[in-house]
Amino acid sequence: MNFVSHLECSLTGERYPAGQVLGVSEAGKPLLVRYDTERLGEAVQKAEIAGRRGGLWRYWEFLPVSRTRNRLDLGELVTPLIRLENDPSGELWVKDEGRLPTGSFKARGLAVAVAMAAELGITHLAMPSNGNAGAALAAYATRAGIKATVFCPADTPEVNLREIAYQGADVYRVDGLINDCGRIVGAGKEAVGWFDLSTLREPYRIEGKKTMGLELAEQFDWQLPDAIFYPTGGGTGLIGMWKAFAELEAIGWIGSKRPKMFAVQSEGCAPIVRAYLEGKEFADPWEDAYTIAAGIRVPVALGDFLILRAVRESGGAALEVSETDIGECQAEVASGHGLLLCPEGAATYAAYRQARLSGLIDGGSRVVLFNCATGLKYPLPEMTATFDPETPNAYARFLSD
Ligand SMILES: *Cc1c(COP(=O)(O)O)cnc(C)c1O
Repeated sequence: MNFVSHLECSLTGERYPAGQVLGVSEAGKPLLVRYDTERLGEAVQKAEIAGRRGGLWRYWEFLPVSRTRNRLDLGELVTPLIRLENDPSGELWVKDEGRLPTGSFKARGLAVAVAMAAELGITHLAMPSNGNAGAALAAYATRAGIKATVFCPADTPEVNLREIAYQGADVYRVDGLINDCGRIVGAGKEAVGWFDLSTLREPYRIEGKKTMGLELAEQFDWQLPDAIFYPTGGGTGLIGMWKAFAELEAIGWIGSKRPKMFAVQSEGCAPIVRAYLEGKEFADPWEDAYTIAAGIRVPVALGDFLILRAVRESGGAALEVSETDIGECQAEVASGHGLLLCPEGAATYAAYRQARLSGLIDGGSRVVLFNCATGLKYPLPEMTATFDPETPNAYARFLSD
């Protein structure tokens, strides 16, 4: 059973029936799942959820998957909020999504999207990926017994490419960026018959990502934080959390107060920031995109207008950070706080610092940064020290003066 009432075009509001295989709307825009919030609100209580174990499936009433047996389980969990201590200004928390299966929050979206694909009888999934989404797809598709094909930019981190292949998907390097890979998936739809699982080109990955918002609300005892910094590529997570908050308000679990939503991008690929600054509703494609933070190297986002809307309505902002800042912040948090962020996560820390300096965030605010993947998936700075106990006075170096 589920509480879905229908699907809706995110631009025009046009309605579509639930329970069918759907990609984008007639207008070519993302479809959003709508729920019968009255029935949903009557069906479940906060206390009931608090008593459940596991991760995102704890919130199954808020998800589109009907049958319990279709829920895919690789040991999802409620990801921890880690306080960055020594910070005198309010509360600064990192929500560490790197603890999820396959080491990134792409697991949330793919767990739900692949479960829905299984429920709808889809047998072959295809996707463009900068690495983490492909890895999550590979794992969950294998779990569900569904074939998966992934196209990655040739310079995708090696560990991701190998992880995708090792977990049972077909993966190919492509000379181009993620939008070029997306075109290949689109073009192959007719010839091969695979289903396109690109970001926001199907309605269910966002439902999985939405659970970040549900978790946050629950972790803060149904009081939302003052600000959220989100490393923004396709923007699924940011749009998803915004949707989660609306649904929680609709069933009366939270009020109308919302966190300021900050969409964070790198100076090397900042289409959303540029559109935000120019006051535009849609973002122009970013040319020659580059950034060490592979997950946010997304030159074109289908949900651009939804990201921009959420950012503006929330009173937040779209912020760009330099590549240098990303590296420095990653090093600072690793060596100063003992927490290894991925570069995308480090970008949110850099943006937070910027926002504090410029007054976008008041001291005393309760702020959440998203670390979206484990830092272990990325190359780390070289370590060159060696130790030979046979050298004369070998231990002298350890004596402090
Ligand atoms: C995919 C990804 C992002 C961007 O997420 P979106 O919701 O698509 O904007 C950020 N960081 C990492 C590590 C990612 O894998």
